[in-house]
Amino acid sequence: MTDDSTLDETAIIARDLIRFDTTNYGEGKSNGETDAAEYVEARLSALGLKPQLFDSDPGRTSVVARVAGRNTEKPALVVHGHLDVVPADPRNWSVDPFGGVIKDGLLWGRGAVDMKNMDAMILTAVGDILNAGEQPERDLVVAFFADEEDGGRRGSHHLVDNHPELFAGATEAISEVGGYSIDLEGRRAYLLQTGEKSLVWIKLIARGQAAHGSRLIRDNAITRLAEAVVAIGRTDWPIQLTATTTRLIDELGRLLDVDPERVGPDEVVLRTGTAAGFILATLRATTNPTLLEAGYKHNVIPDTAEALVDIRTLPGDEDRVLAEVQRLVGDDVEVQIMHRDIGLEADFGGELIDAITGTLERHDPGAPVLPYLLSGGTDNKALSKLGITGYGFAPLRLPKDLDFPGMFHGVDERVPLDALVFGRAVLRDLLSSY
Ligand SMILES: [Zn+2]
Repeated sequence: MTDDSTLDETAIIARDLIRFDTTNYGEGKSNGETDAAEYVEARLSALGLKPQLFDSDPGRTSVVARVAGRNTEKPALVVHGHLDVVPADPRNWSVDPFGGVIKDGLLWGRGAVDMKNMDAMILTAVGDILNAGEQPERDLVVAFFADEEDGGRRGSHHLVDNHPELFAGATEAISEVGGYSIDLEGRRAYLLQTGEKSLVWIKLIARGQAAHGSRLIRDNAITRLAEAVVAIGRTDWPIQLTATTTRLIDELGRLLDVDPERVGPDEVVLRTGTAAGFILATLRATTNPTLLEAGYKHNVIPDTAEALVDIRTLPGDEDRVLAEVQRLVGDDVEVQIMHRDIGLEADFGGELIDAITGTLERHDPGAPVLPYLLSGGTDNKALSKLGITGYGFAPLRLPKDLDFPGMFHGVDERVPLDALVFGRAVLRDLLSSY
């Protein structure tokens, strides 16, 4: 047992949140976020704030509170996290994924990385400011959303569509999957997320002749589906650089002393160690088959077979990639769009970027800050409907051998305790001054 008195409050809160199993299974199936939301509500109330709970569906609870800033002339900043997590199979983990285990100086569990760590950092950073009798520089809208892991329809999108007044006056947001450090051949740098790819989740449906499994049948739905899945899964999409990735590759080339023109973008990115796990997918579209469903008995040929494919494209490139996917699978396979959401890309410049890089410079002098595009999506997509520009900035100073990108939705998610302390201090500093 770890003695709580030696733990930073951020670790205690993150651990408590991990112990609420807020698994989101997708397609509306979820354990729900209410217990975690009520815990967050209590923490915010203890700071003297007036948090509000919103249920989009029973059990699907988000929490929002506004923190009054000193400078009412400045637009508000949304600081947000999500309370749900993706499923975890305990057989694959070396600890109980919902145990909130602390060992070897790290906090382990589903959500330790994505993103109960940042939820806790938001709470302690805001708490540090308020408990010192101070105010953030500008109004903060502190939001903890349900359902991010299923596209946010029951969380951020629900609040943006039905309660836009919560975000009144806000122009920018910060949240997950950015702000963490990476190792560039012995030199620490930080990745700041300034954009996200678009997502298109499709279902492939192949049809054929239902029949006894012993017959000669060439019109087989499973065979037809399998060919489509292979065609999509084996496609190598060509490199397409955006303003963000062009700048990232240039900066990486400079820092790693390699010429991108000579070796190509992939080769530059491969020299970033574990960070390549995130960055490679941002240089191109990806089309990953993720789920198969067909048949119900060994000696029955089914009349339909279905597959789910997770498509991520560069911002604005969705329709072109979809047309190409339809060409790859052929006219005999139906492509159904289950869910789609836009991509985002913001300039790597402006006052917030300056404030973030300045704050990181104070806390980790000499470490460069690089822009990057996220291969996944975040609740910033929903906020963008209100004209809010979102960034990924959940600051963590990490040891160089930790495969942090690999732990998002992976096994044995864990975050160093001292990284949580670092993140709390950086956020506190940023929110006090920006
Ligand atoms: Zn997340």
